[in-house]
Amino acid sequence: MHRYALVFFCVCFSASCLAWGGRGHAAIGALAQQNLTPAALSQVQELLRDDLDRYEQASGRTTLAAVASWPDEIREVAMKTDPAAYKGWHVRGNQVCSTKLGPCKDGHCVDELIISYTRILRDKSQSHRARNEALKWVVHLVGDLHMPLHSGINRNGGGAKVSMEDVELKPDATLHTIWDNELANAALKGWKSSARLEQNVPALTEDAPTRWMLETRDVALHEVYEPLSGFSCEAKLPEPIRIDAAYQQRSVAVVRHQIEMAGLRLAQLLNESLP
Ligand SMILES: [Zn+2]
Repeated sequence: MHRYALVFFCVCFSASCLAWGGRGHAAIGALAQQNLTPAALSQVQELLRDDLDRYEQASGRTTLAAVASWPDEIREVAMKTDPAAYKGWHVRGNQVCSTKLGPCKDGHCVDELIISYTRILRDKSQSHRARNEALKWVVHLVGDLHMPLHSGINRNGGGAKVSMEDVELKPDATLHTIWDNELANAALKGWKSSARLEQNVPALTEDAPTRWMLETRDVALHEVYEPLSGFSCEAKLPEPIRIDAAYQQRSVAVVRHQIEMAGLRLAQLLNESLP
């Protein structure tokens, strides 16, 4: 059996298959925390004091890695009573073959929410709870924005059915879920980034998250869609789309690069927002 296929097999029969990209978000949080200035780190620790979990109980969580999936967790709870809760908040449906921005209803899409939660995080007149939650949203959404399919889609959207060479998938697996889980987990297993934020980088402008998103949309075009056999901007591929071993292997470097970009950019955003 192919080396990568074996990794996928292990991943899919463990509990981590149920996690919704949790491993990727934690890796981004950890990398960002390693790159915080002392001033930003001490404010992050203060903001995570008395952190609450999805049921509003003391969470005991004290690191960016530990809180990075909280927006997914509260959505899971909210969806029990409202299936449309937080719909669209973690993504933006930019078409990969167009330069137009995707829709963003009421400012509830990934880049606009990072911008508005960063404003709350910076604002010391806001309550401790509001800034604590803003921090958790920013940490999570900077991660989501760098997942290619959260920033770009094509005619075969993230919901396209897939099959994977040498890998047993759940029947409801889609292009989106394999990038969130199988491909991400395989790339992150046993890997830890030690990337460092460069010194003296130019300060971020407020619209930086939108620029990051458009760059990630191009990653979706070049790394998620174009390598699919038969892909073209005009046509819809027949489903299930076959994800062969070469595609799986290629995705390892893509996932790791995106995780590093997300972690370093998140660190810069927090360093500038919590001076
Ligand atoms: Zn998310």
